[in-house]
Amino acid sequence: MKRRTLAIVLGVVVASLAGVPSAQKIDVYSRPLRAEPSRDYQALHYRVALDLDVANKAFTGENTVTMSPLRDRLTSIGLDAETFTVSGVRLADGTPLTFRQADGRLNIEFPRAYGVGDKVVFAISYHAEGLGASQDRNKGINFVDATAANPALIVARSFPDGARHWFPCYDHPNGKVTQEIIATVPREYRVLSNGRLLGVSEDSERRTKTYHWSQDKPHSTYLSALIAGPYVVAESSLGSLPIHYWYYEKDRKDALIAFERTPQIIAFLNKTYGYDFPWDKYDQVIVPGGGGTETTAATMLTQSVIHDLKGEKDFSVHRWLITHEAAHQWWGDLVTCRDWGHTWINESFATYSEVQYAEYEAGRDEAAVDLLGKKNRYFQEAATRYIRPIVFHRWEEPGQNFDRHTYQKGAAVVHMMRWILGEMPFHNTLSHFLHKHAFQPVDTNDMLTAIKEATGQNLDWFFNEWLLSPGHPMFDVRADWDERTRKLTWRIVQTQDTNAGVPIFKTPIVLSAVTPAGRKSEKVWITGKDSVFTFDCAQKPLMVRFDEGDYILKEWTFDRPVEELLYQLGHDDVLGRMWATSQLGRHADDPRVAPALLQSARSDPFWAVRRDALYVLGGYDGAIDNDERTNIPWTRLNDGFKPGRFLNGGLAGFLKERTRDGNPKVRAAAFWALGNLRDSALIPFLKERFSADDSYGAQALVLVAIGKTGDRSAVSFLRTAAEMESPSGIVKRAAEWALGQLK
Ligand SMILES: [Zn+2]
Repeated sequence: MKRRTLAIVLGVVVASLAGVPSAQKIDVYSRPLRAEPSRDYQALHYRVALDLDVANKAFTGENTVTMSPLRDRLTSIGLDAETFTVSGVRLADGTPLTFRQADGRLNIEFPRAYGVGDKVVFAISYHAEGLGASQDRNKGINFVDATAANPALIVARSFPDGARHWFPCYDHPNGKVTQEIIATVPREYRVLSNGRLLGVSEDSERRTKTYHWSQDKPHSTYLSALIAGPYVVAESSLGSLPIHYWYYEKDRKDALIAFERTPQIIAFLNKTYGYDFPWDKYDQVIVPGGGGTETTAATMLTQSVIHDLKGEKDFSVHRWLITHEAAHQWWGDLVTCRDWGHTWINESFATYSEVQYAEYEAGRDEAAVDLLGKKNRYFQEAATRYIRPIVFHRWEEPGQNFDRHTYQKGAAVVHMMRWILGEMPFHNTLSHFLHKHAFQPVDTNDMLTAIKEATGQNLDWFFNEWLLSPGHPMFDVRADWDERTRKLTWRIVQTQDTNAGVPIFKTPIVLSAVTPAGRKSEKVWITGKDSVFTFDCAQKPLMVRFDEGDYILKEWTFDRPVEELLYQLGHDDVLGRMWATSQLGRHADDPRVAPALLQSARSDPFWAVRRDALYVLGGYDGAIDNDERTNIPWTRLNDGFKPGRFLNGGLAGFLKERTRDGNPKVRAAAFWALGNLRDSALIPFLKERFSADDSYGAQALVLVAIGKTGDRSAVSFLRTAAEMESPSGIVKRAAEWALGQLK
């Protein structure tokens, strides 16, 4: 599941321009406490036959249930059943059964008692009508009307408890079943479901087709798929694995841009997880609405995923959405959280796969910047909304656990786990866990045990801190070199508020010092609130580094002298240079700082350092990063920045040059900084760059910069720009914001 949609990613330009979101604290502990439900039978197989009446937004259905009691003397059972009306239940031999449907449950009485080892087969007939005109995100079957963006479609929404709205079932992730979906639809539709397509038959009189899909490996009901419409289907493969892309006819030109790397992503995941893709095929299908849903081997993706080649530069959806949902075919579908309190096992690993794929495709630095963006998104949630343990059993509805704690913090926790265990043991853990629990529900303790079995390491302490407790460490760090003793002394104090259950963290961390003689790194264990470490250090350090490698999820304060920061800016790794950039922003009065940042903004070999140098030069002084996947520096668009500390020196010429950087995110930062000059004289230049730039994200920032001038002569230009097509309307929305500034 990927809730954050392309539209939302891009939508921040509008939301944040409107103002800083208020820091509203949410009491997550007031949510009701949940527990995995007990049950006295195991559903084994559902054979769901649906006849879908598009014209009347109605369907009739029959689910033939095979189940086995988990206790003796079982004389009745309950199933989840909502939205539709049950008209009859009968045993396989035709014997009608007494049933009662009320309050979302279907209770069925058997004529005799069944026991452990029995197999019971019965069929439930049901129907639903009046399913509404625009049910784009409703649970169960949605008859989606045609719009400019999509043809009329049928889309079943099963996550997290929507399956019970289209077939009666045991609808909780701890129950795994095989299934058949047999769907009758208008004959111009194609039907996608889980498993293998057994056959298609046509009824020429009714002008319908019936698709018969079979999923013969067990999965949880929330992963059940039924999508039907006039789709175009493109075929690909990875070895013997069929891979298909389902899209609308109108998207034929650009559809494959988003999809075409799927085989290489699956090949990468096969290797990364040490477990080959578990299902018979892999289909991806676009549907209205946002995000992605990892229905087994039939992933639903937002139709916004389709974009042209120009958009690929800005959004690279294959690296996050496509990879994330593909990873769910293992994490979520092959092994499934038993209950929504353990949802991190689905989402943290899927989210971390984005970092791993970025590392594989684009290198460690890209992966590090991606993970930093994820950490910052979690920090924002922690600072403005709430903190909670990642493993958390309180919710009004399961979706509440699908937040930045589960996704972004969880990914950062998996990254720490990888570092603490080491590369091979981490890999062995993933492979062991997947093999041991394949096609089963799992919980957090299963992962802890798998680590012990695969590596011999007891990570109880790590799970207690990072998964079962809320929060993260906040370090106040000092490092002092004593010229007389030739020693470097570190003092590290944990300053987080421990009142809300946030622990004092025990963690390894790498401290390093660079001197003219070279770099010396030491891995130490922080075990208490206040830790002191002293190392021999014959020469005065040129720079020191707290948490070299940036493995630990943390906030920290660490005051370093300007000369060290300048050295770090020129010599450290990418995240070190980005940190030095942000710290130098606090020393605007020092005459050495601006020239060094200008140099970085122009010449640093990595785009994110050039970008951040431009942000600092342009007046950004915040602590929260933008989303690394977009060009939209959303916090930086707020009016809280402190303009002009560097810009006073007449930087326009330099920033204009930087708007021609090879990386669109750097160009966007340059346009943002130019905008802060609020100078009407820049408008002709900005208009020229709007026409010339080949990135939607950079173009959006050009419009923002024009808006900031407040010059009404730009109105007609902005109105024309607002007509431009772009992924999720990013350019249009920037134009509309800019127009708003001119009023
Ligand atoms: Zn997900």
